[in-house]
Amino acid sequence: MPIADKMVNMVEAASMIRKMFEEGIRMKEKYGADNVFDFSLGNPDVPPPPIVKKTLLELINSENISHGYMPNNGYPHVRQAVADYLNKEYNVGLNSDLIVMTSGAAGALNDTLKALLNPGEEILVPAPYFIGYNQYAFIAGATLKTAASLENFHLDLDAIEEGINEKTRVMLINSPNNPTGVVYTKQELDKLGNLLEKVSKKYGKRIYLISDEPYRKIAYDVEVPSMFDVYPHTIVLTSYSKELSLAGERIGYLAIHPKAEDAAMIAGAAGVTNTMIYVNAPALFQQVVGKLQGVTVDSEIYKKRRDMFCHGLHAAGYEFDVPEGAFYLFPKSPIKDDVKFTGILKEQNILAVPGTGFGGPGFFRLSYAVPDKTIQDSLEGFKKAIDSVK
Ligand code: PLP
Repeated sequence: MPIADKMVNMVEAASMIRKMFEEGIRMKEKYGADNVFDFSLGNPDVPPPPIVKKTLLELINSENISHGYMPNNGYPHVRQAVADYLNKEYNVGLNSDLIVMTSGAAGALNDTLKALLNPGEEILVPAPYFIGYNQYAFIAGATLKTAASLENFHLDLDAIEEGINEKTRVMLINSPNNPTGVVYTKQELDKLGNLLEKVSKKYGKRIYLISDEPYRKIAYDVEVPSMFDVYPHTIVLTSYSKELSLAGERIGYLAIHPKAEDAAMIAGAAGVTNTMIYVNAPALFQQVVGKLQGVTVDSEIYKKRRDMFCHGLHAAGYEFDVPEGAFYLFPKSPIKDDVKFTGILKEQNILAVPGTGFGGPGFFRLSYAVPDKTIQDSLEGFKKAIDSVK
């Protein structure tokens, strides 16, 4: 093998996703874009709010634009803008030294995990979970362990307690959740905070909470609780990929709770990780988002799609809990084998991701970051697919 042994499985897993992406392109060429219903990717199709373009143009035309290197953690004025915004929203007393600008939420996860984990230490995540976590754990040389969730995909605190041992360094959660759309409640998060305090004492080492929140602003009729109130040893990370529809611009940040144990050292280590991998977050979009704190896409657009999709799929006979956030549906596969069922959906030109890929066998994921028409026109195919296995 010309590539490292440890890369073989990783390349195979990545090429599965790439194959699905390429299959979508091939099918669109063959059947016409309007006749293929691609729900496979969480790639926002809603344009960024107009103020993004305006800010970008103003910046490009101004004398103040900067294109050079900067401190690894990001432009000081941008980190200050982020800290000011978070303090206003959550009253947490953050200073800009505890903010690191990153290349998306993926960059923030890589930075944080590399900063916190020794090789062989463990990350615990509730299943189902976002596929990318396997890769970030791999890069950090850590082991990703899963804890089962409750039937409604909320936190199963007993399973989490059982999953924690002397090797656990990080508890990783994601709410609103990809793939389930669940938003964890303040009550269950408070219980998680208490549990992490208890097990940190039990094992004589600090277990950190990482809260991966790129969908925070895409929630419907529910409050997404502030993680800064839950447990002091928390690192919140996010991006502008979904909330400003800027996924390709690779911009995000991590914010460390001021009371987290060794907070300053974590920020320093995360900044050094930046240097090792991509040096610093993209300069242009740091400067753009620095001016747009608190601006988000209109989540009503996603809510309308969610309602339309849920209505249609329920009518066709699919079972699922209505998601409270993000832009994913996670229905039960009508047959046990979710991989087989996504194959049956493909016969109707519908692309969905098997739950098995997210550590959630027996389900499948649909991204509704697609035009309304794609949802409407797909419903007949969904009905035929479920009817064919009844
Ligand atoms: N975390 C979750 C839960 C995601 O769904 C994604 C992307 O889909 C990421 C992290 C990575 O986000 P970004 O593109 O901002 O790096």
